[in-house]
Amino acid sequence: MKKAVFIDRDGIINHEPGHYTCKVDDFIINDGVGETIDLLKKNDFLVIVISNQGGIAKQLYTENDVLEMHIKLCEYLAGYNTQVDDFYFCPHHDEFGKCLCRKPQALMLEKAMAVYNIDAVKSFMIGDSPRDVEAAKRCGVKGILVKSNQNIYQTCVDIVNGSL
Ligand SMILES: [Mg+2]
Ligand SMILES: [Zn+2]
Repeated sequence: MKKAVFIDRDGIINHEPGHYTCKVDDFIINDGVGETIDLLKKNDFLVIVISNQGGIAKQLYTENDVLEMHIKLCEYLAGYNTQVDDFYFCPHHDEFGKCLCRKPQALMLEKAMAVYNIDAVKSFMIGDSPRDVEAAKRCGVKGILVKSNQNIYQTCVDIVNGSL
């Protein structure tokens, strides 16, 4: 079985301005993301982005806007000769009906673990919201809460070294 680091998107990968990131031009990648993902991949972790994108349900932006942002991330990561393994996002929002995937529910993580044969016990979820940590907890993954827009490189050094 494989090990993975699941990473929340807004506030971890890209700058969280305190409201929704609606357009690709507002998708500003945080410091250290390229080096961090390169480090994780070189240490045999799968890297999978797991995000709530309730702004789609609210019609603030479209699924296509989200895909454009993910392409921007992929292009940025190519500059570091690295990549993420997959993206999962929930386009729903509680105000517009119930779903099974929005964090703190664990379905996106569970799906990824089934698809990629990931061992929860050896895996981590990094997020800037208690619901990220809660989603991890619900499926046996270790959740790590960090401050929004902080450089997560050192946190990932600690993961790789086995000290987290
Ligand atoms: Mg976030
Ligand atoms: Zn959902």
